Amino acid sequence: SHERISILGLGAMGRALASALLEAGREVTLWNRTPGKAGGLVARGAREASSVEDAVGAGDLTVACLLDDASVRETLAPAMPKLAGRTLVNLTSGSVRQARELAGWLERYGVSLLAGGIMAVPPTVGTGGAFILYSGARDLFDRVAPVLAPIGRPHWVGEDPGFAALYDMAALSGMYGMGAGTDHAVALVHAEGGDVDTFKREVLQPWMEQMLPIMVAGADVSESVPDEYNPAMQATGLENILSASGEAGVPADLAGHLRASLWRMRRALAAR
Ligand code: NDP
Repeated sequence: SHERISILGLGAMGRALASALLEAGREVTLWNRTPGKAGGLVARGAREASSVEDAVGAGDLTVACLLDDASVRETLAPAMPKLAGRTLVNLTSGSVRQARELAGWLERYGVSLLAGGIMAVPPTVGTGGAFILYSGARDLFDRVAPVLAPIGRPHWVGEDPGFAALYDMAALSGMYGMGAGTDHAVALVHAEGGDVDTFKREVLQPWMEQMLPIMVAGADVSESVPDEYNPAMQATGLENILSASGEAGVPADLAGHLRASLWRMRRALAAR
């Protein structure tokens, strides 16, 4: 079984993962490049490893949660002989290509990779909404999922090791798009003398709740715009918001998402 877990990386996220696993009664060994970050976790029963090799050897399962792909390579390189025949779960964010190349590199040493993407922030790790995307061999996922379930609901997205990163990044793009929109919305309200808190609570929140399922369902790779959303009407609406934004003196770079939508409507119009 994979009940003994070693965690490489005690940044904000690594510490949150360790905390949730300790809470669930897992046997946890910790390693961090800079020592001294394991304090509170050691007091709760975790063991601090003296080296990466020590950490890797202590766990049935090694979880890496470091800054980026380069730090994962750098950290694992000296411990590869020890990691041979074992499993690495990489919860470090990176690109699709990096995940695929990491899987190939590890495979040459006989290390199985389950690639992950954490759909949570440190305070929500281990809470109801948190979920973790995993990609890699299905049987590996089936063995690892129950062991790591305390950090967030495990969700397998395919054999391709790059898919966890792919879906993670794509979902973040959706989030940043919403963030750009909400930032622009409050800038506009503030610039024209509206009350931002009231606007958020009484207008923005219920409006976005109403539109979120429609936006997600309607997201499309084609340039087509459904008949009920006349692109000429939408282009005019977007031009109005952009003019209003300019009149309010809101910096133009906050309105990039509006221009992206406007270009899309103009392309849809040109294609009709
Ligand atoms: P932090 O910046 O808090 O921690 C970074 C960690 O990486 C530290 O443990 C640091 O060690 C270590 N590190 C950096 N460079 C190296 C290196 N060259 N060799 C060894 N260790 C290194 O980041 P987080 O903990 O927040 O994030 C970790 C991962 O989790 C990232 O990939 C992030 O994208 C992902 N993630 C984070 C989320 C968040 O909201 N925080 C949400 C979802 C995913 P040291 O203490 O020695 O500097």
